[in-house]
Amino acid sequence: MTQRHITIVGAGQSGLQLGIGLLDGGFAVTMVSNRTPEEIRDGKVSSSQCIFHDALEHERSLELDFWPDAPTVDGISFTIPHPETPGEKAIGWASRLDNPAKSIDQRVKFPRFMEAFVQRGGELIFEDAGVEELERYARESDLVIVAAGKGEIAQLFTRDAERSTYDAPQRALALTYVNGMTPREEYSAVSFNLIPGVGEYFAFPALTTTGPCEIMVFEGIPGGPMDCWKGLTPQEHLETSKNILKAFLPWEADRASGVELTDSNGFLQGRFPPTVRHPIATLPSGRQVLGLADVVVLNDPITGQGSNNASKCAASYLKSIKEHGDGVFDGAFMQATFESYWNYAKHVAQWTNALLAPPPPHVLELLGAANQSAEIANRFVNGFNNPPDFQEWFMSPDKAAAYLASVDAARVS
Ligand SMILES: Cc1cc2nc3c(=O)[nH]c(=O)nc-3n(C[C@H](O)[C@H](O)[C@H](O)COP(=O)(O)OP(=O)(O)OC[C@H]3O[C@@H](n4cnc5c(N)ncnc54)[C@H](O)[C@@H]3O)c2cc1C
Repeated sequence: MTQRHITIVGAGQSGLQLGIGLLDGGFAVTMVSNRTPEEIRDGKVSSSQCIFHDALEHERSLELDFWPDAPTVDGISFTIPHPETPGEKAIGWASRLDNPAKSIDQRVKFPRFMEAFVQRGGELIFEDAGVEELERYARESDLVIVAAGKGEIAQLFTRDAERSTYDAPQRALALTYVNGMTPREEYSAVSFNLIPGVGEYFAFPALTTTGPCEIMVFEGIPGGPMDCWKGLTPQEHLETSKNILKAFLPWEADRASGVELTDSNGFLQGRFPPTVRHPIATLPSGRQVLGLADVVVLNDPITGQGSNNASKCAASYLKSIKEHGDGVFDGAFMQATFESYWNYAKHVAQWTNALLAPPPPHVLELLGAANQSAEIANRFVNGFNNPPDFQEWFMSPDKAAAYLASVDAARVS
C-alpha cells in the first residue's frame, strides 16, 4: 500500500494530537499553522484547558505527557451562595476525582507538541489557510482535515440548526491567570461557584509559561453584573476579577485577595455562540474537507469540555481513519467518521447546554442532596471525565427521582 498523505489545518489540541497519532500510524502528515511556536508562546492565553483523565490518557498513549510534575486538579467543589444571607452558602460540597486532571497552558503545550510532530517526521508549514490554500491541499492530499478551532475558516462548515441549541452567546467569558492564590485546604480542586442570575466562577491550579499558577474563569450571563470585561487593561481586568469575588463570593475573595497576573498576556475576554456544524465543507472545485473538534462541535466552556472533546475527537477520528484501510476518504467516510464522534459528543453538548439554562427543580434537588450524600457528589464530579453518565441520572426529572430513591434506599438498608 502506498503511503497516504493527510493535511491538517490548525495546530491546536485536536490537530496536533491527531497529526502525531497519524505519523505513528505510518501516514505522511502536513500540518498547517497560522501561528509560529514563538507567536503562540509569546501571545495571549486562549483557554483554561483543564483536561480530565480519559482525555489525558489519549495524550499519554501517544507519549505526549511532557509535564508529569505539573500541578494536578484532584477534585471539584461546588457552591451556590445563599440568595438571602450574604456571605453564606446555600449549597457547598466537594469530592475527589477518581484520577487527577491537569491544565497545561496552550502557550506551553502547542509549541512542545509541534516540536514532537516535527521530530516524528511531520511537515509543519506556516500559513493562514483560506479557500485557495484548501483547494491546493485537497489536490495534493488523500484527506484534508480542518482543525482550526474558532478560526474564521470554520465558517466554511454550515451550522446544523437541528443539532445546535442556541444561536447567540450564552455567557460573557473572561480568564485571569494569577499567582498568589491561597490553595484550597485538603486537596486541589476546580472551585466551581454558581451564582443564580449572575453566572459562574471557577478557579483551579495549572501550569503556565512562568510555572505553576491558578486560572480564574468567569462566565457572566449576558447583560448581568459579570458581563463587564470589554476593553479593560490587564490591571483593570485583574481588579474587576477581584471585585466580582468580593461582591458575590467572599470565600473566593479571601483566597484571591493577594493575586497578581502571571504575565501581561495572562487574561482573555470574549463570547461566542455554542454551535454544531455540518462536518463536511465542499470547496468551489467540488472537493470536500472534514471538520474536527471545535470546528464541528463548539461548546461553551461552562463545563470545561472543549479540550477534552478535542482530544477525544482526535482519538475517534484516528481510529476511523486507521480502520478505513486503503478505502477512499470520500464524503460517506467523512460523515460516518463524524457520526461516530457525535455519538459521544452529543451527550457533552446536551449536558453543557443544560447547564447554561437556569437550573430546573430536579437539578437543584440533586445538587442540594449532594450536600448530604458523598455518593451523589462523587458521581457529579466524575461525570466531568465521562459526561454521557449524566444521561443516566441528571438530565431528566424521572431519572433523577429514580436515582435519588436508590441512593436513599442504599442509605437505609
Ligand atoms: C474561556 C475559555 C475557557 C476554556 N476552558 C476549558 C477547560 O477548562 N477545559 C477544556 O477542556 N476546554 C476549555 N476550553 C476550550 C478549549 O480550549 C478548546 O475547545 C480547544 O482548544 C479546542 O481544540 P481545537 O483543536 O478544536 O482548536 P484549538 O486548540 O483552538 O486550535 C486551533 C488552531 O488552529 C489555528 N488556526 C485557526 N485558523 C487557522 C487557519 N486559517 N490556518 C491555519 N491555522 C489556523 C489556531 O491558531 C489554533 O492554534 C476553554 C475555552 C475558552 C474560550
